[in-house]
Amino acid sequence: MIKHIRGLHHVTSMASDARANNAFFTHVLGLRRVKKTVNFDQPDVYHLYYGDELGSPGSVMTYFPFPNMDKGAAGVGEVSVTTFGVPDGALPFWKERLLALNISGLSEAIGFGVNRLEFDGPDGERLALVEDAADLRAPWADGGVHADVAIRGFHSASMRVRDEGATGELLQFMGYQAEEQEGAISRFRMQDGDVATIIDVETLPGMPMARSGAGSVHHIAFAVENRAAQLEVRKQLLDTGYQVTPVIDRDYFWAIYFRTPAGILFEIATNEPGFDRDEERAHLGETLKLPAQHAHLRAQLEAHLQVLE
Ligand code: ZN
Repeated sequence: MIKHIRGLHHVTSMASDARANNAFFTHVLGLRRVKKTVNFDQPDVYHLYYGDELGSPGSVMTYFPFPNMDKGAAGVGEVSVTTFGVPDGALPFWKERLLALNISGLSEAIGFGVNRLEFDGPDGERLALVEDAADLRAPWADGGVHADVAIRGFHSASMRVRDEGATGELLQFMGYQAEEQEGAISRFRMQDGDVATIIDVETLPGMPMARSGAGSVHHIAFAVENRAAQLEVRKQLLDTGYQVTPVIDRDYFWAIYFRTPAGILFEIATNEPGFDRDEERAHLGETLKLPAQHAHLRAQLEAHLQVLE
């Protein structure tokens, strides 16, 4: 079994409009935009990162906004809901706020004994807030949402599969333990992880495969402390038969990727070096940062990319 995975690192999704995406995550949810950069493989597309003050691992929702991209269709073989943690008693505030801001798809439920508020993101992606009294992380306090109720970071992610078997085995190999079952959903938890240690797996044998598009999660990333731990995880995955990419420098972390048996793209990302490696902490996310290989494109990218605010 792999011993180095600490919980979620980031979740990366696709969007159809950078400006609407930015407004939603910063103004509606009150997260901090911790980085404004571009897609490594397609530098005319933004890569926007939203999280807590420093973009701590386990807090960072990231987006590739492809202008006018068609919306995806929900199905199996994808991450279906990304869930953030808020303090105990914060959900009434959020319900009122999301209603006042005309956010669609609002629904309340109790899942695994905890109050849960689900809603749509700007491209119809399902997002949720759950109350978690045990979550002691400090929120981004300057995002327009009072610190008493502000988002702490990820609580969990849910994925849909036709057959739980191989996904459950993989999660357990990664250090998660099967914990509880509620209807078609199995909850897996990393007992000694850092933060965002829950993955819910929903089994839907009759559901078609998801069609990827705006609002779809592109990949989900799990945290490891450093590059040495990442290399050990890579070796263990390779030894178990997974096709894993070489280590890729993503400027703010190092990444490896592999696809799960259910078709979901998993990434293992390092907690080093972090989002303050090329910007002052007080000014994260304000100016366009470019990967070194795209630095020569700055003038044309600045002219081409949508103005966010
Ligand atoms: Zn990633």
